[in-house]
Formats: sequence, C-alpha cells, structure tokens
Amino acid sequence: MAGAVERLKVISIIIRLVLILFMIPALCSCGSDESGMIARVSRVAMGTLVEISAVGSPDRTKPAIEAAFDEIRRVENLTSFHKVSGLTQINDSSGETHVKSDAELVDLIRKSVRFSEYSDGAFDITIGSIGRLWNFSGESGPRLPDRSEIEKLLPTVGSKLLKIDSDQNLVFLPVKGMALDLGAIAKGYGLDRAAETLRRMGIGSGLVNAGGDIVAFGKKAPDKPWRIGIQDPRNPGGILAVGEINDRAVVTSGDYERFFMDADRRYHHILDPKTGYPAEGLQSVTIVAPDGVTADAMSTAVFVLGKDKGLALIETMPDVAGLVVDRHGSVFMSEKARHMFELKQ
Ligand code: AMP
Ligand code: MG
Repeated sequence: MAGAVERLKVISIIIRLVLILFMIPALCSCGSDESGMIARVSRVAMGTLVEISAVGSPDRTKPAIEAAFDEIRRVENLTSFHKVSGLTQINDSSGETHVKSDAELVDLIRKSVRFSEYSDGAFDITIGSIGRLWNFSGESGPRLPDRSEIEKLLPTVGSKLLKIDSDQNLVFLPVKGMALDLGAIAKGYGLDRAAETLRRMGIGSGLVNAGGDIVAFGKKAPDKPWRIGIQDPRNPGGILAVGEINDRAVVTSGDYERFFMDADRRYHHILDPKTGYPAEGLQSVTIVAPDGVTADAMSTAVFVLGKDKGLALIETMPDVAGLVVDRHGSVFMSEKARHMFELKQ
C-alpha cells in the first residue's frame, strides 16, 4: 500500500506540474500594450508555480514584482502548516496554553471562523488534526487512515471550540491534538497581499496567478480586460470555460489537485469536517469574488456543501459568483456566473 501510494503521489505531482505549465499560457496570454510592456515573473511559492504579471515600464514593474514575491513569502512564513510559522506556534500549544500571536494572523483566523459560520461548518480550519492523518500536503505523502483514527479525532474539529482574544491577540486551542490548517484560505490571502503590494508600488494593472488561482486588477490594455480560463477537472490542460475579469479574484477547489486512488476510489484533500472523509459529489468549484480570501474560502466551502446547498449559499452573497462541476462532469453556474463565463464544451 505504502509503495503504491508513493508511486501515485509521484504521478500526481508530475501531472500537476505538467498541468500548471500547460495552464499558465492558456490563462494569461503574453504580449505588450500601447502604453508599455507586461512584465511576467514565475517562481515556486505557496506550494505551486506563482506567476506575477504587471503592466508598466520595467523600472516600475521589476521592483514591484520583487516586493510582491517577498510579500507572498512573508504570508507563507505566517501561515504554513508544515514549516515553523506563526500558525505552528499555536498548534504546538494545543490543550496547554494560549499563544500570543501576530494581529494579522489572528485576523485571518477570525475571518476563517466567520466563513465556518456562513457555511454551517463546511469550511473549518480546525480540520488540521484530521488533515494530518491523511497527510495530503506532507512530505511523506498521503495515506488512507483507519476509520477509528478519524473518529477519535472528530471531537477536535469545530471552530466553535476556538478561544480568541482579539484585543490581546491570543489564540487558544482548548483540546489536546487540535490543529488549525489555513490551507483553504492562505493562498487567497497571499494573492490579495501580492496584488495590494503591486498597487502600493504604483502598478495600475496586474495579475497574480498561483497555479490557476488568480487575483487581477485593472486591465491588460486600455480596451482589453484580463481573460482567464477555468480548468477542466478531468482533462489536464483542458479549459472548461473562459471569462473576462476586472478587479476580481477567481479561485478553484478541485478533487484533482491532491488525491490518490485506492480500490478504484478517489481520495482527495478537501475534507468534510462532519465526517473527516473527503467531501463527495463534486469534481470542482470555481468562485469569483472581490478578494482572494473570500474566493478561496468559498471555493472550499461550496465544494463541501455540494451543488444545491453550495449554489444556494453563493446566491445569498452579493458580488460572489460560482461555477460547479458535479461528479458526472455536468456544469452548473450561479446567476452571476452565467453572465461571466462562456463554456468551451
Ligand atoms: P482548497 O484547495 O482551497 O479547497 O483547500 C484545500 C486545503 O484546505 C486542504 O489541502 C487542507 O489543507 C484544507 N482543508 C481541507 N478540507 C477543509 C475544510 N473543509 N475546511 C477548511 N480547510 C480545509
Ligand atoms: Mg479554498
């Protein structure tokens, strides 16, 4: 089993890398506009390939892109689940003591708790303890835990258990073994911070693309909005839908991103906090929102909620649109998404 899982993990990483390499040219075509050049720099960060594009002259875009990558690295150091970070300090003290934390991290944790409330617990960063059992993001690769191991840890899951003192920036995980995992929201936050950094450095138009999750602002050229593609969850490199975005984040959660197969069953990294097992029913969810944090948290939440409850939740949120692919590959869109995306199949 361990050897098979290891092999599948290697295959999955190769597929993901090939996919990202194919996807990026499809997601944002290269070129220049009348007012100048579009500078593009790609680096590995946040567990994927991040490409930052900025419109403007090189003397402006070069330092701005460098600063944006520095900002992404800073967010990683604050939120990482595996490397020593502000977050692991909190997790290491579970069941023992509160931790004085960074105001920025406490704010992201509080926002995460709010998304748990909106989604009736479908999105929940206290999934960390059970996430560790599955180990989809760990170095040694995923494994299928025994049901008894999962059931033992279910009482450590639930944002309602968390104790947060926002005035003093204290966080306490009261149950031993509890762990926070910001994997479903930190990338969105990193995208927001990188875009904000570009803006602060004088860039009027830019796009930050982390493995297909995107924040875009301004336009590619005066009469040309940024154009993005949504990946087909069962056709690596294939594009399911395209659309134009302006000052928006587009984030996708999919069962193809981190997974293994066992006895013809797909086990993937998006867990239902109520069962501790991978959420069933969907292949992918793409959310368009004004910011990356909302798009990232909502893509995971809707994936767990499933098509009907997920689309119903999207319709209650002004400025949020969603596209859902069910287990059969059928596509369903929220009202606003129907005006944004053109299906390619
Ligand atoms: P995403 O790709 O944004 O949907 O995030 C998935 C990642 O978030 C996983 O790799 C876990 O680290 C974490 N995660 C898994 N299930 C959940 C959940 N139900 N709520 C919050 N975070 C989750
Ligand atoms: Mg997410």
